[in-house]
Amino acid sequence: MSHLDCIRNDIRNMRAYQVADVPAGFIKLDAMESPYDYPEDMKKELGRTLAEAPIRLYPNPATCGLLQVLRDTYQIPDEADVVLGNGSDELIERLTMLVSKPGAKVLAPAPSFVMYRVNAEFFGLEFIGVPLRENFTMDLDAMLAAVKEHQPALVFIAYPNNPTGGRFAREKVQAIIDAAPGIVVVDEAYGAFSSDSFLGEAGKIPNLVVLRTLSKIGFAGLRIGYASGTPALINELKKIIPPYNMNQLSLAAAEFALQYRPFITENINKLKGERERMRTALHAYPAIRDFPSEANFLTLRVPDAKALFDKLYEHNILIKNLHGTHPLLDQCVRITIGLPEHNQAVLAVLAEMYGS
Ligand SMILES: *Cc1c(COP(=O)(O)O)cnc(C)c1O
Repeated sequence: MSHLDCIRNDIRNMRAYQVADVPAGFIKLDAMESPYDYPEDMKKELGRTLAEAPIRLYPNPATCGLLQVLRDTYQIPDEADVVLGNGSDELIERLTMLVSKPGAKVLAPAPSFVMYRVNAEFFGLEFIGVPLRENFTMDLDAMLAAVKEHQPALVFIAYPNNPTGGRFAREKVQAIIDAAPGIVVVDEAYGAFSSDSFLGEAGKIPNLVVLRTLSKIGFAGLRIGYASGTPALINELKKIIPPYNMNQLSLAAAEFALQYRPFITENINKLKGERERMRTALHAYPAIRDFPSEANFLTLRVPDAKALFDKLYEHNILIKNLHGTHPLLDQCVRITIGLPEHNQAVLAVLAEMYGS
């Protein structure tokens, strides 16, 4: 018997999450990172701010300035309590841990963010993926039937959805919140690019948690996510979040970053503009099926996803091939919106492959 045999069999049979290894000089359009770096003068200012951060001391995420800045910036309702996570990934994990009683189930539309399923499996919970419709809209009848049948302790709804890009109809999400016997997490990782949000309901609906992150709006490297909900619910979450889960440098950098709201908003608007420009341009190619997106990426169905992935790779562009990850994503790819010249480079390859 080897010492490794002490490890849970399900973990031994898993494979580690592969973070893409990107060759130098590549255009990275696989992970919804922002293409906009801070200008030099802002970087210098950030350096001065970080030099003052008290790294000698443990952080106190509950009283740090960032929480108030997030409340003010995003108008989180006064009724809501807010807790920070080391990326919203950590909050997804802890929310799953919160309900991990024997026999509890986690439910989400499918395809959606893979970490909902992965975390359910970590805690030994059954995961129910309710298929979307063929056009990636939500099948509300199927969702309500599954909620009724399985009585999930936790429902995740990515709003807008990843990896499909669309935002589900608000009334459908509301109907699920009303019908669910347990907690409903509305994950707004792409909220900044969306035309709608549930953040204004945080703290007002007992079983609702709204998750947000700074990752998709320019600060993926900081690992800052936050969950908002009623004080009663967030208080339970606080019990199982490690006391020092955040770090002083990230907290200080995020607080600094959010002072430059116009810069952030301008970048978001540029990406939304580019997203629509790309979609319109794609209509010239009958071989490509595009889907509406309220996120900073487009999901497309092409004749051969692997061939497109390879061709873009030859042009030093990395995208995400979704083919094989879910039956509904047959021959689909996901392309993050980048700088106009990045998007132009993608369009040139698409023209080469699918132009007449
Ligand atoms: C990217 C993403 C996250 C993870 O965000 P982090 O804050 O970087 O951990 C969560 N949910 C969805 C739907 C995402 O696409």
